[in-house]
Amino acid sequence: MIIETTKLESVLVKNDITQKMYINGEWIVSESNGTKEVLNPANQEVIGTVTHGTAEDAKKAIEAAHQAFYKNGWMSSRARDRAEFLLQISNKLEERKNEFAYLETLNNGKTLREALDDVEDAVNQLRYYAGLATQPHGQTYDVPDDIQALVVREAIGVVGIIVPWNYPLVMANQKIAAALAAGCTLVVKPADVTPLSLIRLFEIIDEVGMPPGVANLVLGPGRKVGAELVSNPLVDKISFTGGTATGIGLMKSAADTVKNISLELGGKSPNIVFADADFDTAIDYALNAIFANQGQVCSAGSRLILEESLYETFVPELVRRTKQIKIGPGWKEGVEMGPLVSESHMNTVLDYIEIGKSEGATLLCGGNRIVEGELNKGYFVEPTIFGDTTPDMRIVQEEIFGPVLAIQTFKTEEEAIELANGTAFGLAAAVFSQDGAKAQRVIRQMRAGITWINTYHPTFNEAPWGGYKQSGIGRDLGTYGFEEYLETKQINISLKVEPSGFFKGE
Ligand code: NAD
Repeated sequence: MIIETTKLESVLVKNDITQKMYINGEWIVSESNGTKEVLNPANQEVIGTVTHGTAEDAKKAIEAAHQAFYKNGWMSSRARDRAEFLLQISNKLEERKNEFAYLETLNNGKTLREALDDVEDAVNQLRYYAGLATQPHGQTYDVPDDIQALVVREAIGVVGIIVPWNYPLVMANQKIAAALAAGCTLVVKPADVTPLSLIRLFEIIDEVGMPPGVANLVLGPGRKVGAELVSNPLVDKISFTGGTATGIGLMKSAADTVKNISLELGGKSPNIVFADADFDTAIDYALNAIFANQGQVCSAGSRLILEESLYETFVPELVRRTKQIKIGPGWKEGVEMGPLVSESHMNTVLDYIEIGKSEGATLLCGGNRIVEGELNKGYFVEPTIFGDTTPDMRIVQEEIFGPVLAIQTFKTEEEAIELANGTAFGLAAAVFSQDGAKAQRVIRQMRAGITWINTYHPTFNEAPWGGYKQSGIGRDLGTYGFEEYLETKQINISLKVEPSGFFKGE
């Protein structure tokens, strides 16, 4: 265990203190004076009280970000200075990584080992983008004239960042790091249920002394605070991660101001296992693909697409291993799966399990909320597997975003590809096979942005993250994620300063 359990409470701010928003370099409470309690999903204990922002608060933050970029000099800030800020933030975050990991576990429910991975990832993102900030970019090119022609890349301006609750720190951090490296100013809005780690990240941002208004944090409901970011004409770009239905609404609203928008949305990703796969590896990753982070992963392998001849050996072993998963509060030693993030989300997942049964799928294991012993107050759901599914079932087509796996079977390579691509989503996909040519052939046919062969889930800050089809538009991370925050300008400089004579003037 990375911190003794006795220190758990010391990670939290005293509960009678209202945690604030960070706007224009100051900590403020909402103009509404409203507050919201934040719960630990493992036991429903109140672990924080935060100010509950409004659209008016969001407007103040947007104006501060606008002022900082266009009037107070951030637009002309030096890449090396921005890189230095990012490095300072990364160092301070690294020093406090255990504290951040604990806080993430208490607020989101994920296991401590996963939370620690998230924080380490966040540190690395800040360092990666600090490095990228000063890299050369732009172009020069030959033109058929006496002109020196070049392309420069410039910060896009004010960025609104809206993120979900499944990776509260890391999803926001990757956008913050890239946007600041690119020279933008920003306003971030976390999900209502998981604001705590981002509030703390902004404590660090405050400590490193960036100019007021460059980075702002607003709290509150998406439909008010988030919606203001999307519709406000002073915001130049929206970088959104969340559900597909929300993303569709945002895109419509962003159209009114022709706002640049990137969308990281939901998934229903296929994990194809051929009969010639390494059996133990494929079993291991089939579990990891769907049950990591309680299945609350956009890229989760929520559909196991299994070669029919393997069914009789693979599925019983998969079910046996699933029943052995150790479930409990994420901070406890040895726990492998924590609770779902909230009561309402748990109810959505349980509803989907009922839908699966009523559609005629066979429940192979799980299917219930866990109410025994110390888990009785938490939002724990058994890891669940359905067999005998058909492609038209809702549990096969719709994102459940919980620990629920649907198994589909195939006989031929063509059938596997058709099933795998047979949803509206296109975020991730994996193939398990020891036939290298076949694995590569199939992965090239996947209409998905994040793919694996003989593994599932490892991804890197250096590589682009995003989806095809209704899983989104644009990319986070890597150089592609950096580009999302840049405009492109051509500059043409005359090498022969003389009149053109286009109009004779006679
Ligand atoms: P959500 O769409 O309900 O909310 C995401 C964020 O949008 C929250 O901060 C919310 O407050 C805000 N929001 C809601 N309505 C809004 C509106 N009208 N205007 C502006 N903002 C609004 O998603 P969620 O339930 O928090 O997260 C789960 C979803 O996120 C899943 O679908 C998952 O697949 C997706 N996700 C995708 C990725 C990816 O990289 N593709 C990563 C993580 C999660």
